Amino acid sequence: MQSRKILEQGDFLYQEGDAPENAYIVISGSLEISAKKDGNKIVIGRILPGELVGEMSVINDSKRSATVVALEPCVVVEIDKKHILERIEKSDPIIRSLLTGYARRFLGGLDIFVGTKNIAKSQSVNVIDDSTVQKIKLEHQLKQAIKNKQLGVLLQPILEVATDEIVGYEALIRWNHPEHGPIPPLELIALAEETSLIDDISDYVIDYACHAIRQILQLNGEAHRFISINVSPNQLLRDDFVNNIINKVDTAKLPKGSLHLEITESSTLLTEKIEHVIDLCHEHGIKVALDNFGTGSSNLALVQKLKFDTLIIDRSFTIDVQHNHRSMALIDMIVNLGYRINAEVLVAGIESEEMLDYVRELNCRYAQGYHIGKPQELAVILSNNTADKFLSAKSQIEILTPLVEKNITSDMDI
Ligand code: C2E
Ligand code: CA
Repeated sequence: MQSRKILEQGDFLYQEGDAPENAYIVISGSLEISAKKDGNKIVIGRILPGELVGEMSVINDSKRSATVVALEPCVVVEIDKKHILERIEKSDPIIRSLLTGYARRFLGGLDIFVGTKNIAKSQSVNVIDDSTVQKIKLEHQLKQAIKNKQLGVLLQPILEVATDEIVGYEALIRWNHPEHGPIPPLELIALAEETSLIDDISDYVIDYACHAIRQILQLNGEAHRFISINVSPNQLLRDDFVNNIINKVDTAKLPKGSLHLEITESSTLLTEKIEHVIDLCHEHGIKVALDNFGTGSSNLALVQKLKFDTLIIDRSFTIDVQHNHRSMALIDMIVNLGYRINAEVLVAGIESEEMLDYVRELNCRYAQGYHIGKPQELAVILSNNTADKFLSAKSQIEILTPLVEKNITSDMDI
């Protein structure tokens, strides 16, 4: 609840030692903050319209360490302590810790200055907890890993079903943390998205993809090949994200169609943004796929409105396709849908020859999954010249470098 309070000149808003009930925003007039040192009044500052006063002891849940008096007729709006604390509790843990730490230090400094012992330990708001410390540490380590080029990118083959050829690769980020081991990519992306580190990761993956496609094209006598990169909705929301990709693709002079974006839709509010992204990409020969189609918020209206080049059927539909006639019907339906709207379809999560046989019977363009090929390093792809061949799952496992047991460093010098 917020309510207004009118003060005449000389009225106290609160006095040293009072229990804090509210913080205040000054609407009009001005107020003076003072504290007592050795019985003498020390003026600490003046509060003007638009400023906040009294929030420190609310956040710290300690008695008022200063007195605030109106210097002229004033209007203030009260902000209820409970509401402030609720908002702080709901805020980002790092911001919360910074705020509570700041409040404690501010009031502690004031205490020392005036020689009082008003300041209680913060009871109302949790001070920095273990998970927050871990998160700050991890963020710092991620920054270092980016700087020291310790992130890796693996490439998972994509099979063109009709020709039985590997014609593309999906770029998948990897971070093998020195203490915690491999960090799941989704966790890594979520962490990076909370800071500007996501820009560095985006640049890293795009640069890697441009570098890798060049090498793969050379290996295949410039026959058409592509690399897909994953883009999260939050990345898309960042200014200039797509223009940055376009600049890099244009600078690298990649053949049209050799870079694809895989977008996982997570909010229908983004429809207009994605429409704009697709148009821009198409102007520059970049194809756009709807990832994890059929899950989350990737609904049919999206397919109706947006001109995706590819629909990627989520592997949750493929997992039991031979035994579940409903999964079968859904895959069948999406493949037909793709055919009708002129979008290619990629069936993900192919883990066995039987699954692949099933997919071969469908009229779908691409298939991907551990049976076709696990994510692997570019160097392995190049040295084994696997770019053109679809090897059996058994022989692939033998050529795969263990992904998680070793420190993956990029073989790209960027
Ligand atoms: P995704 O886009 O759905 O990628 C496919 C994930 O499924 C990959 O996991 C891949 O290793 C795994 N996978 C592929 N085939 C099979 C299979 O046959 N069986 C099983 N069980 N799994 C299979 P990964 O690499 O852990 O990536 C997880 C997610 O992290 C990706 O899901 C993607 O959303 C995200 N991600 C990875 N790299 C990046 C990146 O560079 N940028 C962004 N924004 N997201 C990324
Ligand atoms: Ca993907």
